[in-house]
Amino acid sequence: MSRKVLVIGEVREGALRNVSFEAIAAAKTMSDGGEIVGVLCGSDDLTNMGKELIYYGADRVVTVQSDQLASYTSEGYSQALMAVIDDESPEGIVMGHTAIGKDVTPKLASKIETGLISDAVNIEETGDNIVFTRPIYSGKAFEKKIITDGLIFATIRPNNIKALDRDEGRSGEVTAREVDIKDLRTVIKDVIRKSTEGVDLSEANVIIAGGRGVKSEDGFKPLEELAEVLGGAVGASRGACDAEYCDYSLQIGQTGKVVTPDLYIACGISGAIQHLAGMSNSKVIVAINKDPEANIFNVADYGIVGDLFDVVPKLTEEIKQI
Ligand code: FAD
Repeated sequence: MSRKVLVIGEVREGALRNVSFEAIAAAKTMSDGGEIVGVLCGSDDLTNMGKELIYYGADRVVTVQSDQLASYTSEGYSQALMAVIDDESPEGIVMGHTAIGKDVTPKLASKIETGLISDAVNIEETGDNIVFTRPIYSGKAFEKKIITDGLIFATIRPNNIKALDRDEGRSGEVTAREVDIKDLRTVIKDVIRKSTEGVDLSEANVIIAGGRGVKSEDGFKPLEELAEVLGGAVGASRGACDAEYCDYSLQIGQTGKVVTPDLYIACGISGAIQHLAGMSNSKVIVAINKDPEANIFNVADYGIVGDLFDVVPKLTEEIKQI
């Protein structure tokens, strides 16, 4: 059964987040040959980003440009998105399970009066059903879910569903939709960013994470150097954050970010269940720990028993030679 599916793309600091392209691939499965319509909101000209969505598989794109959308507010974005949803009457909607996705999609689902499957890591079509797989119990089990009635609405976890190949030969319309965004009760006056430069943790393919074993803020330096040669991001356990070795924005785990990189290197992290909840679905896990009994070795594909201050610089040097 073919369906029209709306893909809500996400723009961050003037660039499209990768999960927007992954959402198009998810929409492809959900649409069963139906039309895929991208939606973008922001305050700058979104035409070129709209074209990118088309190169990645959208059939056409609707943009909503307004000064009121310069920073994300759930009221502003939900007004803009509801206007497009009302115009398009889609049979499916998909978005990344990002900070914005987690906030805006429940609001939209309640306005549309439909269900929402959040944080899907896989989507498949079986007969007339679209089956979503999502982790439960902090990633210790998975459940499969379908929406049996009405619009199919889902968010997808970044880095799990492979984006389609980019094809600049694809064409499609990018149209602007004016929306009168009004009665905002929240206005963002200023955004003060934490110093998380470089690769975005939740979309990184490689993460070098440090725990209490790094022992100090300076102890993160060898990890940063390894991350740089691998083109990855630095993350942390809550132990390292609590000890003030790094900012909480780096925390991975049950109460931090959930990540699924291709490669996760855990350095001086014991492997508490709350930490595993945020990283155990990584494709390849390498653990470096002095303690051969550390729990992290139970989830690791490769384990190195040793002092991270010996091992990490050696790894960096070896990788530089490649
Ligand atoms: P430790 O457990 O102290 O481990 C340090 C490790 O470093 C040890 O295994 C040690 O052998 C090793 N080590 C020491 N020196 C070296 C060296 N030189 N070289 C190599 N290895 C070395 N934790 C999270 O991470 N994320 C969360 O989201 C999170 N949420 C939580 C939510 C709740 C409600 C609770 C109660 C806890 C939560 N925690 C979370 C905390 C969690 O239980 C652990 O306390 C924390 O993960 C421990 O961090 P750690 O592994 O860095 O420290």
